[in-house]
Amino acid sequence: MAYTQLSVTRRCWIADLAEAAATEAGGVIPVQPLPLLDSHEITFSPGDFGNAFDGVLEHRSGRFHIYCNIRDTDYPGSTRARFTVGHELGHYFIDEHRNALASGRVPSHPSFIDKSGNSVIETEANTFSSYFLMPQQDFRRAVAKEKPGLKAIINLSSTFSVSAQATAIRYVEECPVPCAAMMFRPGKRPWAAICPTLRKLGYDYANAPEVTALPNGFASKVAHADPAESGLGAIVEAPSTASFWFANVAASSPRNCVITEQAVRLGTHGILTLLLFPRGL
Ligand SMILES: [Zn+2]
Repeated sequence: MAYTQLSVTRRCWIADLAEAAATEAGGVIPVQPLPLLDSHEITFSPGDFGNAFDGVLEHRSGRFHIYCNIRDTDYPGSTRARFTVGHELGHYFIDEHRNALASGRVPSHPSFIDKSGNSVIETEANTFSSYFLMPQQDFRRAVAKEKPGLKAIINLSSTFSVSAQATAIRYVEECPVPCAAMMFRPGKRPWAAICPTLRKLGYDYANAPEVTALPNGFASKVAHADPAESGLGAIVEAPSTASFWFANVAASSPRNCVITEQAVRLGTHGILTLLLFPRGL
């Protein structure tokens, strides 16, 4: 997933920077970005900008301005809008991004938070937003209080006011049980986030089948049957095997093992799946 594109050094540096910004914003959870905009004299325009961008950080005559796209179904305090503001703050707080913009070396760019692709700049801004809205120490404490599983992701998403998808990407990094998250999105390729322990043990490439192509009885397929209109569906759980979900793990491999598949429908966004491995793998 996206954050693993960055070196550990760079990611840790951005995480520290974001955590300091969250403290400056008042140190409360959920983090409130707006007072930080005020104290840095960054002006702010939420609005409906069609499909032009999710957000933009603009520099003009020494002043910074953030535009945040709030389409029909969105609102200024939504988890999506919060992540967008966090992303643009990343462009402001990361020295290289801010200096490039202020010097005129690079123009303002439209940010799309779901489409960072291979752009290091966008991945860095998303990483900042993640650690700004889920400061590492607070997030770790909150993870420790939860029973490992998908319910923990849903609870943390609500505590930190961040989408379940963004929460899941961070959760796999901190969960005490080895795990991987996968998101099946309608009309888009699924994404997978794999915890450091699993990556180290060679479970580093997840198979990403279409959710409809999964065998009957798989938790993700059962969750998919939940109507999208119902919003957050019920959490479904079923036993599964590592060899099904991970490339290069044959059924006969000693690395194959029984795992737990949990899945939930996130309304029209798709199905979020968590694969939990045995503790102490
Ligand atoms: Zn951006």
